[in-house]
Amino acid sequence: MNRDALNIDGHTRIFGLIGNPVGHTMSPVIHNTLAAYYGHNLIYGAFPVVDDPVSAVKGAYALGIGGLNVTVPHKSAVIPALVDLDDFAAKIGAVNTLVRIEEKRGYKGYNTDMPGLYRALQQENIRIEGETIVILGAGGAARAVAMMTASKGAKRVYVLNRTVCKAEAIVREIAAVYPDCRMFAGSIYDISDLPEEKFLCIQATSTGMSPHTEQAVIEDPAFYERIHTGFDLIYNPSDTKFMQMVRQAGGRAYNGLDMLLYQGVIAYELWNDMTVDEDAVSLVRRRLKEEMRL
Ligand code: NAP
Repeated sequence: MNRDALNIDGHTRIFGLIGNPVGHTMSPVIHNTLAAYYGHNLIYGAFPVVDDPVSAVKGAYALGIGGLNVTVPHKSAVIPALVDLDDFAAKIGAVNTLVRIEEKRGYKGYNTDMPGLYRALQQENIRIEGETIVILGAGGAARAVAMMTASKGAKRVYVLNRTVCKAEAIVREIAAVYPDCRMFAGSIYDISDLPEEKFLCIQATSTGMSPHTEQAVIEDPAFYERIHTGFDLIYNPSDTKFMQMVRQAGGRAYNGLDMLLYQGVIAYELWNDMTVDEDAVSLVRRRLKEEMRL
């Protein structure tokens, strides 16, 4: 690693995150670590954008900003400011990475959250294709997970949520795009209609996040008996109650740290037209754990 190579000068390319709030973000850790590792002359910061993200994106292009990440609440609102949109991001209706396209005088939008989750699952040999998958939640993340699992050839996808009509809306929308995937909507309070066979469960609600670490979105131990693998999108705490209940029932359990890590790695690859190697990925993972004291 060559940290000395990072000298800020007139050639330094500037990248960053827009969103509100951005104070808690781990993205600078990911990108500045990779820049130092590869000796790239770039820096990454956080820009709080309270309102008018469209003007922020246009202004960023005018200022020569090399690329941006986008976080809540602007992931959909920035789309009208873009000159191009990746197909999968268009299906999800949300972008988290903007890549500067000089010829088009603007940014192309991508969604690296779902490729990031997919890469994290692949690293652990967790299959999607042909599988039965239960997704807990029907917010922005759950909707994207449902779209990703359907696009990767899941056999059946169940979306369970506290507010059932939101799960139903996701199922309707995705079934229309991926008719080969059988989609079902239900309530987190009624698990009687779930399949008998064991399934992969992706926990995409905010229940169990620090400081409410004593909660799991479903508390019934019978539910966990059916899970062969549980993947919680939450990474703080690193061992959620959901994960503990999966393990207690005999399943394997993972947190969302590698999803966070890989969404950043994939953004970095898009910005720099390269592949990030495994040593760099391991270094970033260590730095993230240090920063979050995980
Ligand atoms: P969101 O749009 O606000 O959705 C929140 C979801 O949690 C909804 O389904 C909501 O149900 C459910 N929920 C909240 N409180 C609940 C409670 N007390 N009981 C039952 N259900 C409850 O959030 P999001 O953007 O989808 O994010 C969801 C989680 O994914 C967050 O923990 C976030 O940190 C995590 N995430 C991780 C990564 C990563 O890189 N690892 C990336 C994105 C998101 P209702 O619809 O009924 O309100």
